[in-house]
Amino acid sequence: MDQLTTHTDTLIETIGKNSSVSREEMSDLLTAYLPTNGMIRVIDENENDVTGKLAKSQEYTDVPIEYTTTERREVISFNQMDVAIVTKPIIWQNGKIVTIQVSDHLIHMNETMQTLRYVLFFSSAIILIPTIIASFLLSRFLLNPIQKLKETMQTNISKRDWQKIDIENRSKDELYEMEVTFNEMIDSLKENYEKQEIFVSNASHELKTPIQIIKSYAQLLSRRGEGNPELLQESTEAIDSEADRMQNLVEQMLALAKNQQEQVMETLDMRELLQQVTITFQKAYAPREINLLVDEKTKYVWQGNPDQIKQVIYILLTNALKYSEKEVHIRLQQQNDEMIVSVQDFGEGLAEQDQQHIFERFYRVDRARNRETGGTGLGLAIAKVIVESYQGEITVQSKIGEGSIFRIHLPNMDQ
Ligand code: ADP
Repeated sequence: MDQLTTHTDTLIETIGKNSSVSREEMSDLLTAYLPTNGMIRVIDENENDVTGKLAKSQEYTDVPIEYTTTERREVISFNQMDVAIVTKPIIWQNGKIVTIQVSDHLIHMNETMQTLRYVLFFSSAIILIPTIIASFLLSRFLLNPIQKLKETMQTNISKRDWQKIDIENRSKDELYEMEVTFNEMIDSLKENYEKQEIFVSNASHELKTPIQIIKSYAQLLSRRGEGNPELLQESTEAIDSEADRMQNLVEQMLALAKNQQEQVMETLDMRELLQQVTITFQKAYAPREINLLVDEKTKYVWQGNPDQIKQVIYILLTNALKYSEKEVHIRLQQQNDEMIVSVQDFGEGLAEQDQQHIFERFYRVDRARNRETGGTGLGLAIAKVIVESYQGEITVQSKIGEGSIFRIHLPNMDQ
């Protein structure tokens, strides 16, 4: 209807512009505007067609003729056909008002619409088939790895296992990233779990020995203690020393757990802190020689927790004094972006294979001798946990018979 109305308006405009042309020319002009399946009429007040029947086919000329001065748009059913008719009044060449009637039979339009419907239906079906297949494949592609992940998790929970996902020959998409992360998480959980197990079994083993000693001395005392002052003396000394060992061990285990938590940071003057520590140790271990060597020109300011840093230096100093008899040097140096605190002794030193293990919990080079020195094998493990919590590193350089240097590398120093 809109199309026909626009067509009629254009025709009326053209007629207006060419009002002075001859009758034949006007007839040609109207013919040029004939709708493909329709007709154009110019009707005067006597309901006569001024221009004669203008149509491409006879069958389109039977539409009822009507003179009107109002505009109309309608679709009428005529001879079992739908016909769209636009009727508008215009001023004709002779100055009189005539009706211009443009009609178009919609039969072909219906056919076209029907064909279009089929085309739309089949093309939709053709498009839908690959879409359905693609969405099916895509959902399988997406859901399979998720399903695999779920199953692996369930197996891990039900069997207390550390199963990982097989990621070989996998395309590297976002799900692949998730699987890699999952495998990394399993590795880390497994490692932590095993460490925990080793720690618990070592700790219980370490605690069992002093308890055993205390118990056997107590039994000895109850059986043969009476009237035996020598045994009484020996037993109380042993019980006291073993109780001390247990206390030391428990305190160190607590320190290890505590240092795995986050600590409050402060701005520290490392030079001042080391001076305090040196004085404390010089007094406690007099007459042992303990030297502090610092480049005086540099101001060593650092962000950290003073108690933790002191604890690390205490551990290194105690070891240096415990495992050597000569002087001990503490040094504070700067190297690129690192601050290095080192503790050097000239004692028995460490063999290469021991150097790799001394930072592990409960590792001691010589268990028998350690019993005399009161070592627990936890000191260096605690130092390592603390230093690593500052993204630092603790290293050892040592040679049997010559001594050892323990270095703490602390990054990101503020000057
Ligand atoms: P401990 O309480 O036994 O000293 P640590 O973890 O501090 O535990 O040290 C682990 C082991 O490393 C010690 O048992 C000792 O054998 C060895 N060690 C540590 N420091 C030194 C050192 N300065 N010289 C030689 N051996 C050392």
